Amino acid sequence: MRSPVNDPRVSSPYGMRVLNGKEQFHDGIDFVSRSGDRRVFAVAPGVVVFDMDDYEEALRWTDRRHSGGNMIIIAHDVGPAPGARVYYARYLHLGENTVRKNQEIDEGEVVGEYADAGISFGPHLHFDLYDSAWRKIDPTPLLRGVLPS
Ligand SMILES: [Zn+2]
Repeated sequence: MRSPVNDPRVSSPYGMRVLNGKEQFHDGIDFVSRSGDRRVFAVAPGVVVFDMDDYEEALRWTDRRHSGGNMIIIAHDVGPAPGARVYYARYLHLGENTVRKNQEIDEGEVVGEYADAGISFGPHLHFDLYDSAWRKIDPTPLLRGVLPS
């Protein structure tokens, strides 16, 4: 996988964190670009399975504490073919997305721009990952090598 933003900085990693004095589990990785480039890139080839431009509709797909605003889901093929594995990636807090459901995506293709959208503390991309059975997984190992140390 490639990084979903240029010149990435991780503003919040996967795992337990304290927010407003309360411990909570952060189920993805929050990214910002050090260069201020808000474009969001597909981490791998795939196909868009969900695109959301409507905030009210998005509330139904995200929990209230981590409302994602505008979001997309891409089914990514990762790993050597044949037998490439499918992962579902959610890209949240997009101000706009530039792709549509069923669209095929190349690795590195621009899919939108991150923003201060949904429940958010400043513009950032929330990226999280599910396996082929829609079980949430830690994306960190799959992004090893592209995450800043
Ligand atoms: Zn997040």
